[in-house]
Amino acid sequence: MTTLRFRVVEKAFQAKPHEVSIPSERPSDYFAKYVFNREKMFKYLPATVYARLIDVIDNGAPLDRHTADLVAEGMKRWAMSIGATHYTHWFQPLTEGTAEKHDAFIEHNGKGGVMEEFTGRLLVQQEPDASSFPNGGIRNTFEARGYSAWDPSSPVFVVDDTLCIPTVFIAYTGESLDYKAPLLKALRAVDKAAVEVCHFFDPDVKKVVAYLGWEQEYFLVDEGLYAARPDLLLTGRTLMGHEASKNQQLEDHYFGAIPTRVACFMKDLEIQALELGIPVKTRHNEVAPNQFELAPIYEECNLAVDHNMLIMSLMRKVARTHGFRVLLHEKPFKGVNGSGKHNNWSLGTDTGTLLMSPGKSPEENLRFITFIVNTLMAVYRHNGLLKASIMSATNAHRLGANEAPPAIISSFLGEQLTHVLEHIEENPDDYLLSVGGKHELKLGIPQIPELMIDNTDRNRTSPFAFTGNRFEFRAVGSEANCASAMIALNTAVAEQLTVFKHEVDELIAAGKPKVSALLHVIRKYIKECKPICFDGNGYSEEWKAEAARRGLDCETSVPVIFDQYLAPSSIRMFETMGVMTQKELEARNEVKWEMYTKKIQIEARVLGDLAMNHIVPVALDYQSRLIDSVYKLRGIYPEDKCRELSAQNLALIEEITSRVAYIKEHVDAMIEARKVANRLTEVREKAVAYHDIIAPKLEDIRYQIDKLELIVDDRLWTLPKYRELLFVR
Ligand code: ADP
Ligand code: MG
Repeated sequence: MTTLRFRVVEKAFQAKPHEVSIPSERPSDYFAKYVFNREKMFKYLPATVYARLIDVIDNGAPLDRHTADLVAEGMKRWAMSIGATHYTHWFQPLTEGTAEKHDAFIEHNGKGGVMEEFTGRLLVQQEPDASSFPNGGIRNTFEARGYSAWDPSSPVFVVDDTLCIPTVFIAYTGESLDYKAPLLKALRAVDKAAVEVCHFFDPDVKKVVAYLGWEQEYFLVDEGLYAARPDLLLTGRTLMGHEASKNQQLEDHYFGAIPTRVACFMKDLEIQALELGIPVKTRHNEVAPNQFELAPIYEECNLAVDHNMLIMSLMRKVARTHGFRVLLHEKPFKGVNGSGKHNNWSLGTDTGTLLMSPGKSPEENLRFITFIVNTLMAVYRHNGLLKASIMSATNAHRLGANEAPPAIISSFLGEQLTHVLEHIEENPDDYLLSVGGKHELKLGIPQIPELMIDNTDRNRTSPFAFTGNRFEFRAVGSEANCASAMIALNTAVAEQLTVFKHEVDELIAAGKPKVSALLHVIRKYIKECKPICFDGNGYSEEWKAEAARRGLDCETSVPVIFDQYLAPSSIRMFETMGVMTQKELEARNEVKWEMYTKKIQIEARVLGDLAMNHIVPVALDYQSRLIDSVYKLRGIYPEDKCRELSAQNLALIEEITSRVAYIKEHVDAMIEARKVANRLTEVREKAVAYHDIIAPKLEDIRYQIDKLELIVDDRLWTLPKYRELLFVR
């Protein structure tokens, strides 16, 4: 008898790389082929309409109905010229993925036929029948519906036959029901606050842009093997499976040669990503077997978020062409590294300055130090919230597991920057040097004024590391919408810069010279934010104790971590920065708790099913063969000899009996525990029960299953094993 497992493994071994047709043009020629970018706007729109639209995009000018109609017309002509027949409002609900509902361009033409039509009204606003998207009770299905509204700052694009229009998704009462709306508000807040602070150094700055460069990690698994693992199929991760005898200990996968079949997938993905205007740049093998990474050149944050959402769906699609499934889950396999999505973040001005980058002159370096220290203060003040912003049922498996950042937010600065900050802190007076009536900053250490911060100074255990000209927020999950982290971070920095500006202004008003006022506040902050700065080993037990002593948030329970969103300091921050109201925060937390509960609930059901109808029957089948053999030995040998020969079998029979009994008992107990938890009516309480009571049971049951996997006859085992999932490609 060959089981499904043997058939799919054989097929996976035989899979051939899927040919990719490489375009004859260069990437610079086909880049953004399917994007209605400025070049195409210019070509397809009347000059006055083009100018007005650019004003809308760059300066947030209002869009009048007439202009919208003309823009829609131009968009439609362009989209139809590349084969589009449909359009959709593309939005990012709180479920983590993206949502779309396609409509054809056709309308009655009044003569019994149809014509292609697309108006400004359809472009600008729609009312998706989206009553079943999570909204935390904000949107009562019977009264206020939600609508999606065009975000002109992210260009429309065509996927297959559909024109996709990036939109925000909000309730009629104004509350946001998605990730994009608060992100745009957070970006506006940080822009406004940072411009004000920039004016201390450069009065010409009119706009500050937040940049994001994400690094997407993922696994690839052969699709046949994937289909034979119901847990992967339904939950995105393996709920059982003993570690393979070899995994990542030889470190032979990281940066190794990319396997041919995978390389074909990557090429195909990159071509399609470039055509959609996503500037993908870097690809390599990651630490775990069958794990890889993809990173673009950084972009404006809102666009970068859209591009990450788009590429995740593109990856899922392209993988299938190559006989793979892509796993974006943070922890698909126990015992090997999980996947994250580092968020490289920085601020830059419209005058071309990267604010997290040291400059050449003393003024530039004071500006650099200003933004670094304010970022540290923001991260310090809101470290619990930042952790909440990256937390999820799936990311919880990765954080704090000695492979990814610990579940405590701290910041790594590196030796040089630490030294600079210490110097500023310790030398209150030797900075100011009056040259011709002008205050100049003298930082009496060799690195300054030509400050070169070395970004090779790395600490992989730090969740928020300074890397030369940016901060790298490393705790974000691979599956997450980066917007969640970016909303929290940009809002926190906006609030902090606002406070800073206020404090400096007060000192200046009291007669302190500007540079001296700036340094005074910076020095105070350097002292105050010390608890967040940590350059040591984030995995160590000592750090956990030390972090607690420093007052950093050390909570590890996901549902409890979400409370941070409702902490008075968070509500105040989001409200004063105009990003979210308390009502929105409460509603969104309801969604988070509900999602958490559902994810654990699904995992518990899947594990229960698999345990009872895959694992236990196979184990009992094997056991009955062992019993058979014991009986048969009796027919041949005398009692004593028989006992001796059967000793091994009898031990296995007993082991199977006890493990199966444990599994059965605990699956039943897990079902009972779910029943009890499900009766809880308060969403937070229910999520806490799922975390405290049900999630640990999954681990206990798994342990027994994994032990059975080691002793049961390999020929009977139905589920593809780790060695197959991780090493066949
Ligand atoms: P590493 O693995 O060494 O961190 P990668 O090349 O994998 O580096 O990714 C680095 C990411 O950081 C890229 O997306 C890159 O575009 C981005 N990045 C570089 N400089 C900045 C910056 N100033 N602001 C934001 N992102 C940046
Ligand atoms: Mg990288």
